[in-house]
Amino acid sequence: MSSMEASSTAMSLNDQQRYNLLTNHFSPSQNYKFKPVFQNGCNRRCSRNFNTAYPWLVFSDCQNGVFCIHCALFAKNRSKLNQFVNSPFNNWYKFKEKVEIHAQRPYHRESVLASQAFNDKMTNPSSTLPHIINRELETEGNN
Ligand SMILES: [Zn+2]
Repeated sequence: MSSMEASSTAMSLNDQQRYNLLTNHFSPSQNYKFKPVFQNGCNRRCSRNFNTAYPWLVFSDCQNGVFCIHCALFAKNRSKLNQFVNSPFNNWYKFKEKVEIHAQRPYHRESVLASQAFNDKMTNPSSTLPHIINRELETEGNN
């Protein structure tokens, strides 16, 4: 997937799809075999603990790289943003350095806030009418 495709895909998601990605993204199991990439003279691969310090990193199996879930889903003015946002990051040799830089970016902080606001809206929609109606229907169904 090119950067442009990733960008337009992220933009075309509906709220439920976005929420599913945010809360249920693929997570490599304990037995998952990270594919090696030859970099800087030897084979390197993603660390099993890639998101221990950075819980917002998600691993893409098909692209063998990591994305920032908040920026991938919520970054504004994203056309010039690349690794972690529109394309996977897989330069494992510079992983720590580049992740730290990403974490300091203003657009990253904005995306984290946008993501939290979105998550609140999705988990607390109690004041919206359709939700109230569904709740009443569920109650009736249980009786
Ligand atoms: Zn980010």
